[in-house]
Amino acid sequence: MKRGFLKNSKPAKTPANRTSTAGPPATTSTPAPDPDEFQPMTRLRFGKVEPALRGYQALQLLRQAVNGQTTDYSDNTVFVSTLPPLYPNETLASNPDSWTECVFWGGDHKRTIVSTPGFPSPIPRPRQVLHRVAPSRFGMGVFATRNIAMDDLIVSERPLLMAPHVIPPLPLNFSPDFKPTHAQIMEARMVQYEQYLDMALERMFPENCAAFLALHNAHTEDGSGPIYGRVRTNNILALDEPGGDSSRAMIAVFKDISRINHSCVPNAEYGKLDVASLSLQLHAIRDIKKGEEIFIAYCPPTMPTTKRQAKLEPYGFQCTCRVCSDPNSDAFVAKVKSLTSNPLAPTALIQAIYGDSAEWAVHLTEMAPELGNFLNRR
Ligand SMILES: [Zn+2]
Repeated sequence: MKRGFLKNSKPAKTPANRTSTAGPPATTSTPAPDPDEFQPMTRLRFGKVEPALRGYQALQLLRQAVNGQTTDYSDNTVFVSTLPPLYPNETLASNPDSWTECVFWGGDHKRTIVSTPGFPSPIPRPRQVLHRVAPSRFGMGVFATRNIAMDDLIVSERPLLMAPHVIPPLPLNFSPDFKPTHAQIMEARMVQYEQYLDMALERMFPENCAAFLALHNAHTEDGSGPIYGRVRTNNILALDEPGGDSSRAMIAVFKDISRINHSCVPNAEYGKLDVASLSLQLHAIRDIKKGEEIFIAYCPPTMPTTKRQAKLEPYGFQCTCRVCSDPNSDAFVAKVKSLTSNPLAPTALIQAIYGDSAEWAVHLTEMAPELGNFLNRR
């Protein structure tokens, strides 16, 4: 079965640049909902900022061991837990599937995970190692070590870290007579969040902690701490909130999958986190030759080019792939989008155009005449 980006509701890699902290709304009007946007959060700053916060005393967080099986937490408790439960004397050598340090906001996600039938099941792996991390023209990247066929499982991985998609709006430790500005509140929340993330890193095996800290950080000047900066740079939206509260979604950071670079013409994609094994699977969406770099799309390739570029800016690069360089790509995508919203459009043609996220992009020009013929027939 082909996996199509356009018809797939899988989570997208996200810059995690939003927080639910109270404060002035980003705009005073209410724009029409954009299905490509994650709303309605306040956007965190990106770019060079001067520290707004001086003299803020971060709270001393309660550092206590959390039993992996405990799930009885109130909605506004933030706590760190290791999943699957880590028992004494276990090591990475005894369990190569490893463990995830989870920063939970409330107990819902932990309850969901530990009550999933089969949890914790072994990670489903490819029959042989098909990828390696190596220097790329984009910094580090992930490359195929063998020829990989479309739909093959390339890599399957348990996250190093999972955390709330937004910064939990916990009470802040400002003195009673101090009236912080919105920017100061935001910065205090980031300081506080960094503490929780630091707790998670402290609990990691040294190898996993080193792997996390080796990841790229594109958020060095926007008030993010060194851990949250790496989370913002490398996370993947992993768990939706069962109750539909998008602010409670969970993001995940991976040792290898987070190394995969972006292309609007990707050759691989991931689905939803497999909760039973607490792992993410990356599949090929076209044949990949040995030695070829593996790419995923950090944002939907169906977004207009300028919007994609804006989405990619927080990652610290400008995409120059063939779609971004093609002045006709936006018009083509708009046609395809309008076709799929037409219930009378023949399913077969839509599948031919839509069926493969790489195919539509790689054969953008070649497919255009086919689309034109279809439009003429109508
Ligand atoms: Zn591009």
